[in-house]
Amino acid sequence: MKIDVLTLFPAMFAGPLDESIIKRARNKGLLDLKIHDLRDWTHDRHRTVDDKPFGGGPGMLMKPEPIFEAVESLKREKTKVILLSPGGRKFSQQIAAELAVENDLLLVTGHYEGFDERVREALADDELSIGDYVLTNGALPAMVVIDAVTRLLPGVLGDDESSRDESFSHGLLEYPQYTRPAEFKGMKVPDILVSGNHAGIEKWRREQARKRTEKNRPDLLT
Ligand code: SAM
Repeated sequence: MKIDVLTLFPAMFAGPLDESIIKRARNKGLLDLKIHDLRDWTHDRHRTVDDKPFGGGPGMLMKPEPIFEAVESLKREKTKVILLSPGGRKFSQQIAAELAVENDLLLVTGHYEGFDERVREALADDELSIGDYVLTNGALPAMVVIDAVTRLLPGVLGDDESSRDESFSHGLLEYPQYTRPAEFKGMKVPDILVSGNHAGIEKWRREQARKRTEKNRPDLLT
């Protein structure tokens, strides 16, 4: 998969996407990630990317011209252009799975008070929010999307890290898990998990996943 990111803060991407599973995916050629500085598409001495909103109001908006020019030069025939914005539809495991079958994503991240509306109207194929809170800019949201999508690409996770049975994959949160020792600080692993009764273990896990979902995320059950 190819992912391009348009940002005012390319340096923010260096650490998180250069470690662990994402680093391995990049090294194996499963993820071709390019981070682009939006200011490279400005033409004035100050490399201006923002301006005051018409009608007044606090803060500055991202100007349309550099974003249009950048998207038009980076976009290929099948590229899906996604704006990161608190006003977008809420990103989820299901949306990550939908994006993981695309070949080519362009993530457009904002800053200040967000985008001139014409960016949304004319350039965006989709608009995603990572949650109901407002961050200072779209770099972290873009990294969240990249991480969640990349780990679903075929060949990225090994068997030890499989995404088959984890939270949200069956509409439920994940069941409780334990490793050795079987008893720790007086807390024992549930007997069923060391019983060797595979059908019993499956049933226990389903029940526990449901209980945890009812307690922490009842919205997933409706
Ligand atoms: N004025 C905007 C609003 O009320 O919706 C908020 C702009 S925010 C300060 C600046 C940029 O950060 C946004 O353009 C977006 O790219 C990014 N951002 C902030 N919170 C986000 C979230 N929850 N999900 C996705 N992107 C977010």
